[in-house]
Amino acid sequence: MKFGLAAAIQRRPGEIDYRLERQRILAAYRSGAQSTLQVCDAQDELVRNAAHCGTPAGDPCPVCEEPTLVHVTYVFGPRLPSAGRCMTSVAEMRRLAQRKAPYTAYVVEVCTECRWNHLVRSHLLNPLV
Ligand SMILES: [Zn+2]
Repeated sequence: MKFGLAAAIQRRPGEIDYRLERQRILAAYRSGAQSTLQVCDAQDELVRNAAHCGTPAGDPCPVCEEPTLVHVTYVFGPRLPSAGRCMTSVAEMRRLAQRKAPYTAYVVEVCTECRWNHLVRSHLLNPLV
């Protein structure tokens, strides 16, 4: 079951799903080809945003299995910070989608316990402009 921002942006035009890459990385981790340090490398700011703006992913973390996996959505486009803007609500994302400029949303899953992080999907926020 999905919640909040993640549910609001599923199956959108221009969506790119990164599940296969996620599976490849997790398989490499489980085989020992990649270490915990290599796959659990979320930067401090990403973990802070996950703690304050994340929405529950609905699944446990694939690395530590704690129920601390959340989705964080960043939007990139004109008049936004070069590192993107971390979305704090569905309403904020809808306001950006109404602007007459192209915006792209990136959903990242982050574990606030072990720092696992991975890009889940991206999509156009306002594909009709
Ligand atoms: Zn974890």
